[in-house]
Amino acid sequence: MTEIERLVRPHLLGLKPYSSARDEYSGTEGVFLDANENPFDDANHPGINRYPDPHQAALKNRLAEIKGVPADQIFIGNGSDEVIDLLIRAFCEPGKDSIIILPPTYGMYEVSATINNVGIHSIPMLPGFQPDVERILNECRESDKILFLCSPNNPSANLLDADKIQQLIDGFKGIVVLDEAYIDFAPEGSSFVRKVMQHPRLVISQTLSKAWGMAGLRLGIAIAQPEMIRLLDKIKPPYNVNLLSQQVALKKLNEEAAFDAQKEEILRERDRVMKELKGISGVEIVFPSDANFVLARIKNAKWVYQKMLEKFIILRDRSKFVLCEDAIRITIGTREENDAMLRGLTDLKL
Ligand SMILES: *Cc1c(COP(=O)(O)O)cnc(C)c1O
Repeated sequence: MTEIERLVRPHLLGLKPYSSARDEYSGTEGVFLDANENPFDDANHPGINRYPDPHQAALKNRLAEIKGVPADQIFIGNGSDEVIDLLIRAFCEPGKDSIIILPPTYGMYEVSATINNVGIHSIPMLPGFQPDVERILNECRESDKILFLCSPNNPSANLLDADKIQQLIDGFKGIVVLDEAYIDFAPEGSSFVRKVMQHPRLVISQTLSKAWGMAGLRLGIAIAQPEMIRLLDKIKPPYNVNLLSQQVALKKLNEEAAFDAQKEEILRERDRVMKELKGISGVEIVFPSDANFVLARIKNAKWVYQKMLEKFIILRDRSKFVLCEDAIRITIGTREENDAMLRGLTDLKL
């Protein structure tokens, strides 16, 4: 029995997935009278009268080049949110199983689990926003099916220590989901993608929403061993990634020079913003960042958030999160946007 067969919800082992018209005939030539589509194409958006490729082959091939893994190790979801939901539905029995989360972290793990009536086993991070490895490995139970790690972590912005991630992958016996939504902003070599073939229970989650600038297209990526990818493919809605998203993403993924330039600009601005924030009165801590945002502890954070809103500068108040007392999360914008934010904070005269 493989690791995945041991962990997957048993009723899914025998599932026969929906076989779409495009599964049964995947050629591009012919008179297509098999999918009950409208035969009249749209002049402005050619191709939208037809169903999209359910396997996103062209997009996966391009992502395979970029990520340096074979296409059969890639799954594409309708945003990472779909990837998270599918993983929970694949491995967690509602009313019985649970996931482990390490707050403060991304809110969707908990929301998605709760929607699926899956329990939350919450083990807060240690100060410094690193996982408490010993406690996690001591406390985890058989019913904890997935451990969600987020690196760089949202909202704290830091990478998790690589050796801690490795200890958790080795020590936790369920599925480890490593959310690398912000990995393109972290130092080269920080990603665990190259480790996927050594760890059948590891799933790396990435996205085109952040560094690649396509949040509106809703494209999330899972990278894992082919058996895991086949499982996700089996349980996803057949046409989960729409035609326009596939087309536009394919085009934008070829604009690597623009990607690099934007990323460099955001990283330069991040360093400048962090330096300037530290000089503003009332800003008590600027936490280290490996992402395109910074977390800062600011006196009277709730009030600051409201006052900045009144200036139409929208920040994210994270002060309710554990370890995040008086913390505000600030996304790095353009130079002008960042200047407006810095000026706004300075003018509050904290
Ligand atoms: C923004 C973000 C995502 C991206 O979600 P999409 O659904 O792909 O847009 C995933 N994980 C974390 C931690 C994020 O902050």
